[in-house]
Amino acid sequence: MKNRTLLQIAKEHGSPIYVYDAETIIAQYKRLTNAFGKVKHLKLNYAVKALSNVSVLKLFNSLGSGLDTVSIQEVQLGLKAGFKPESIIYTPNGVSLEEIETVSKLGVQINIDNLSILEQFGTKHPNIPVCIRINPHVMAGGNTNISVGHIDSKFGISIHQMPLLLRIVENTNMNINGIHMHTGSDILDIDVFLYASEILFETAKHFKNLDFIDFGSGFKVPYKTGDIETNVEELGEKLSKRFNEFCKDYGKELTLAFEPGKFLVSEAGVFLAKVNVVKQTTSTVFAQIDSGFNHLIRPMLYGSQHEIINISNPKGRERFYSIVGYICETDTFANNRRINEINEGDILCFKNAGAYCFTMASNYNSRYRPAEVLIYKGKPHLIRKRETFNDILNNQIEMSL
Ligand SMILES: *Cc1c(COP(=O)(O)O)cnc(C)c1O
Repeated sequence: MKNRTLLQIAKEHGSPIYVYDAETIIAQYKRLTNAFGKVKHLKLNYAVKALSNVSVLKLFNSLGSGLDTVSIQEVQLGLKAGFKPESIIYTPNGVSLEEIETVSKLGVQINIDNLSILEQFGTKHPNIPVCIRINPHVMAGGNTNISVGHIDSKFGISIHQMPLLLRIVENTNMNINGIHMHTGSDILDIDVFLYASEILFETAKHFKNLDFIDFGSGFKVPYKTGDIETNVEELGEKLSKRFNEFCKDYGKELTLAFEPGKFLVSEAGVFLAKVNVVKQTTSTVFAQIDSGFNHLIRPMLYGSQHEIINISNPKGRERFYSIVGYICETDTFANNRRINEINEGDILCFKNAGAYCFTMASNYNSRYRPAEVLIYKGKPHLIRKRETFNDILNNQIEMSL
């Protein structure tokens, strides 16, 4: 996305604003598809929670993608975007049996991640095919908030509980059609991932009616120069080979599924914010933008380092800045960053703002959530309006005091 285009968008629709590039999303989707080109049946289920705008979901639908959802509302968004229920998988954690039953009635693939619900669901609906989320207890690395494979993790059915799991499946005579794992959000070491996959293959042998094996996600994307990223080509090469061998032994061409969020949309998005104030203290130069963790919480929540560039003055002399927001609480986006000289009114561009950015935005400080624009076939389309004061008051019930 060119600076000129981004500045024009900020001028036309105001700031702060999220801008996504459809071409980048399509390129990432193709990259992953190509990496697994040797697998006969590959299914990518885009993880809705990364970026859930209906127009973005429609783009994924046009690519032939499926969806990975974690709430009934995400399922509803997917249906609204035109997805067929059978191309949606629902992987909730800790939701009620009622919600799972409601989603199941819509025709969506259910993925169950605890034995209590498995037993209840299997007893009541033995004929509905169910996928099981296994926790192989393999640490794929990364931030503890997004690592979900460790022994104390609340996610998945522990691999050590296989005997009980098998007893439940046998007693209820339920139909298990898929095996799933999602080990976390930062695959750094492909061999570790392959090791976890072996555990999944071992598990899969216990079930005779499988249609698919879902390897979750966790593809790491680079945030700044020098960051490591998952080598999806190498992973594709190695896992495809192993998967095809497994299918031969199993006696059926299964579908290999993945459910990437970040990999598909992170780099496709930027966040644009305007500098309200440049404030020099005794030790620091702060650039204060018209936003805060109400719009972009990842740096504060996960310590993620989004690259920030001054698109209003890209050739200016580089100086050190701390980029902070306008929230009445510490909301530091970046410390001591070398950025082209910043003047009040300049537009700063935060990279890698496609995944887990807008979807985590809130109205804290009673601010409006930002607008969203999707650049599709070279043209910017407004896909969400900035909120207004009515949105802040919406659903509030005024008492007469
Ligand atoms: C969040 C999530 C994903 C997507 O993870 P990314 O790191 O964004 O690719 C996939 N599967 C499940 C079950 C998830 O909860």
